[in-house]
Amino acid sequence: MKSKLLAMLGMKCPRCTKGNLFLSRNPYRFKLLGKMHPKCPNCGQDFVIEPGFYFGAAYVSYGLGIAFFGAGFILNWLFFHLDLNILALTMVGLFILLSPLVFMLSRSFWIGFFVKKDV
Ligand SMILES: [Zn+2]
Repeated sequence: MKSKLLAMLGMKCPRCTKGNLFLSRNPYRFKLLGKMHPKCPNCGQDFVIEPGFYFGAAYVSYGLGIAFFGAGFILNWLFFHLDLNILALTMVGLFILLSPLVFMLSRSFWIGFFVKKDV
């Protein structure tokens, strides 16, 4: 059985760490983006705990964005030494490209905060 952190990163059920949260784990299949199984296909854990449950995932998304831009700024400061305008444009472009992945990871982390893993 995987650790809960690996399950959250892999967008798996936080309880059994085996069932997929999403119909497709590929964030760039836009037709299925954000479409989740209502329950875990492996253990039956409810993935929609209450109406509007995933609104809170916006906090996780915000945190991931801050971490992404912070890491980009530090890496630029240490290694790349790009002009700040170029850095900002690059980071914003990269973040837009990564936003479907961030969206899915945010939901995965959010449910992971509330569902205990089976031992
Ligand atoms: Zn499960």
